[in-house]
Amino acid sequence: NDASTVFDLVILGGGSGGYAAALRGAQLGLDVALIEKNKLGGTCLHNGCIPTKALLHAGEVADQAREAEQFGVKASFEGIDIKAVHKYKDDVISGLYKGLQGLVASRKVTYIEGHGRLSSPTSVDVDGRRVEGRHVLLATGSVPKSLPGLEIDGNRIISSDHALTLDRVPESAIILGGGVIGVEFASAWKSFGTDVTVIEGLKHLVPVEDENSSKLLERAFRKRGIKFNLGTFFQSAEYTENGVKVTLADGKTFEAEVLLVAIGRGPVSAGLGYEEQGVAIDRGYVLVDEYMRTNVPTISAVGDLVPTLQLAHVGFAEGILVAERLAGLKPVPIDYDGVPRVTYCHPEVASVGITEAKAKEIYGADKVVALKYNLAGNGKSKILKTAGEIKLVQVKDGAVVGVHMVGDRMGEQVGEAQLIYNWEALPAEVAQLIHAHPTQNEALGEAHLALAGKPLHS
Ligand code: FAD
Repeated sequence: NDASTVFDLVILGGGSGGYAAALRGAQLGLDVALIEKNKLGGTCLHNGCIPTKALLHAGEVADQAREAEQFGVKASFEGIDIKAVHKYKDDVISGLYKGLQGLVASRKVTYIEGHGRLSSPTSVDVDGRRVEGRHVLLATGSVPKSLPGLEIDGNRIISSDHALTLDRVPESAIILGGGVIGVEFASAWKSFGTDVTVIEGLKHLVPVEDENSSKLLERAFRKRGIKFNLGTFFQSAEYTENGVKVTLADGKTFEAEVLLVAIGRGPVSAGLGYEEQGVAIDRGYVLVDEYMRTNVPTISAVGDLVPTLQLAHVGFAEGILVAERLAGLKPVPIDYDGVPRVTYCHPEVASVGITEAKAKEIYGADKVVALKYNLAGNGKSKILKTAGEIKLVQVKDGAVVGVHMVGDRMGEQVGEAQLIYNWEALPAEVAQLIHAHPTQNEALGEAHLALAGKPLHS
């Protein structure tokens, strides 16, 4: 493509949302330009989903070494070689990165490296070059947020970006924020040997999840020796001789070697020409309709930049939706309640659909049935020595509208839960399906057997 090319679609940002739109668009015959200032793959691949899961897995292996004896295996845990852990993690990333670069090249997406800025409703300027398109997709993602007066220095006060490359295992850490990112780091660091305290201003860890899941996670964390302080907000932080001291609104103080700020991520929209071109923005988020269209007819937006769930698979789905719409297909809007959510700590928290509290709000308390199935009755969980529960939320005599699971590997069970939710299967229909024995997946079947009035192992 030369300078006079007008692309069908110009995409600003090569993270989950942007690259999914590029790959699907190219597959459907669109001429696509993908602009990325840093690395193709974005947050998820380089600073998010993938590296955190590698750290969590290394932590799980450490725990297995520590706990081997309870399975009759003689092994000992001698410590963490953090450089080697980083190498393992970086190898995973670079393998996936190469694969993604290959895909973008083989689908004939025009990849443009550089910092882009929206220069008109149909163009992006990249380091002095104008890239014209019939349509523009904004997918510039998000970055870690901080609080006023809390300066992230990358050494003692850090964000998740720094935590992923820290050259040491901290002796002690305070994690500000008990949401998904905070509890995942709490879990991995604890497995590495760090003394961890999580500070969460709301009443529970993972506060967006069903309260039962939060309480189970809190119980499991307590058992693991992960400390947490709930229900009081952060007030200030100051350096001490060897670390950081945090003071909460009630005057309580905590000290540790590092403070990880994990209070959420904010959209990257400032200074990129969005507002100048008339794109409607609210608190930094680009506003879109259910087809990911902004108020400017030639501009769409997806991913962490828009106020939907900040998840990579949501970014993929939104990017694909835009590509399909622009290619003339008729994609269906996303049902965000039907998106699976997994927090990959030890134990895992996985869910789809709505919480019991939300269901009661929508349908009325007397119309909602909640059933808990304890993994103690599940053979495979017993073998793995993992504790937890599956909770089903059902509209009385109707479909299951929420599945909330806590236990190791429950993230792998969320796929079936998602089908049950999205296909509005009745408990009796799910109970009809034979689940393999002994699997953890069987627990989901057993929960539905119980909900259908014919419990087997409960
Ligand atoms: P991003 O991935 O942030 O991509 C935006 C891209 O745009 C970046 O590559 C950036 O360099 C580029 N860009 C920005 N401005 C410009 C510009 N002006 N010019 C050119 N390029 C630009 N999600 C999950 O689903 N599962 C998980 O397990 C999970 N774990 C996570 C763990 C952590 C620690 C973090 C931080 C996030 C995690 N997420 C997870 C969230 C997930 O990473 C994001 O939802 C996802 O990356 C969003 O994709 P995106 O395309 O919107 O944005």
